Amino acid sequence: MRNPNLRLNDLVVRGKKGREESKLMNVKVPANVLARIYRVAANLGSTKTEVVIAILNEGLETAEEELKGWKPPPKPVVPKERRCTIKGCDRERVAKGLCATHYQAQRRARAA
Ligand SMILES: [Zn+2]
Repeated sequence: MRNPNLRLNDLVVRGKKGREESKLMNVKVPANVLARIYRVAANLGSTKTEVVIAILNEGLETAEEELKGWKPPPKPVVPKERRCTIKGCDRERVAKGLCATHYQAQRRARAA
């Protein structure tokens, strides 16, 4: 891994190169995505690793930009009188005092 800050444009213009620690990341990639990575690498005359790093950098920048100031929505709070009667469960009850998960679990246990 020569340049950890690589961008796709760097692969086109062959800009600066640096060195930084790199680690192996073993991920399963859908075959069609892999084929597209191979094609882009071949078109740019670069390695697959360079293409993947460039795309990851650009994708992460986009994600970080879009997530700026974003907070996950607060979990809706179910009023106590409508909560599942199983201790520690705060889901809404749907049948016989139980939430869908615990009601189904009880039904399965009874059927067995
Ligand atoms: Zn429950």
